[in-house]
Amino acid sequence: MTHQPILPGAVLGVLGSGQLGRMFAIAAREMGYRVHVYSNETDSPAGHIADREFVGDYTDVDRIREFARTVDVVTFEFENISAEAAQAIEEIGPVRPGGHVLHISQNRLREKQTLADAGLPVTPFRPVRSSAELETAIQDLGCPGVLKTAEGGYDGKGQVALKAASEAAAAWQELGQLECIYEQFIEFEREVSVVAARGLDGEFAACGPVHNDHHNHILDVSICPDPTLDSLREEAMRIARGVLETLDVVGVMCVEMFVQADGSILINEVAPRPHNSGHLTIEASPCSQFEQQVRAICGLPLGDMQPHTPSAMANLLGDLWVGGEPDWLEALRIPGVRLHLYGKQEPRNGRKMGHLTAIADTLEAAVANVQKARESLTRNQ
Ligand code: AMP
Repeated sequence: MTHQPILPGAVLGVLGSGQLGRMFAIAAREMGYRVHVYSNETDSPAGHIADREFVGDYTDVDRIREFARTVDVVTFEFENISAEAAQAIEEIGPVRPGGHVLHISQNRLREKQTLADAGLPVTPFRPVRSSAELETAIQDLGCPGVLKTAEGGYDGKGQVALKAASEAAAAWQELGQLECIYEQFIEFEREVSVVAARGLDGEFAACGPVHNDHHNHILDVSICPDPTLDSLREEAMRIARGVLETLDVVGVMCVEMFVQADGSILINEVAPRPHNSGHLTIEASPCSQFEQQVRAICGLPLGDMQPHTPSAMANLLGDLWVGGEPDWLEALRIPGVRLHLYGKQEPRNGRKMGHLTAIADTLEAAVANVQKARESLTRNQ
């Protein structure tokens, strides 16, 4: 089936209104599109940029239909949308990526099983729906391991690390006896991601592998292109492409991976949207992950998303506001450093308020400058 491209001037709809929706809306407006966002908040990060902000519950299918009737295509930046809501929109117009992608990526078990069935390498796992199944899973895969709720977890929430089988009962209680997945604990060397895109005609483009450092389970710093990952690049891209093809994604998807000591790669999880580890594409790539999302969902040719300039991104969490407003001036004096703030009013601990990206002639300089910039924000407090 051939699809007509959705051309500039059309209205793009986004479900969810956080920073990913905001940066998508900025990219879309740069290209001459209009943007309508739907979420359960007013005065939201994406709402500040959008032409229209629809406020409603994610379960209010009638309100979501009303929103869908005002746009030419719907995408999302927040994947916990009910299958019913996604289906209601699909009856009105295209949703990209489609409801089938949401359905799979909302549930860690479905996601891992689908990818494993396609022959893609995933962390060894077992489904856990009872304490007896957890015991069996531990017998099969051993301990240490990680028990994660199948649905609803993010940034390390909804998961418990198990060091010994004796901790199983407490972990099962702690996660509320909900459907879970038990994964073998991977002694990875590094965590990397590939932020990939697939067009309506199957065209593929990607950024990565991006090296990611986490702090307290939240992404802290991302860097790309990292020459020490060159030997993994082909395999990481093959896996990412396999994931997008298996799930028939039209849009952007991030594939997070563990690299083991022998260089082998395992998929940790996927996110059917732009990702925090791809923010550096705004400065470092010919086409950012957000412009790419616009291109992919509109049926336009994809751009080159691979960073050609050494770049490093550091997240700015609400914790930085504890001593008052950070000192932006010092950070902005550092060459190659750019500031992104998401327009959130309340700086809670652990809340992503913004990020800094540094580009430089070398990766070492980019990393040093982004760290120096972040440290300078609170130096005089
Ligand atoms: P997730 O929400 O699944 O991305 O997990 C958050 C973080 O927990 C990951 O970025 C890893 O650092 C760690 N983690 C998750 N699953 C595993 C695993 N099976 N083995 C080792 N570390 C893990």
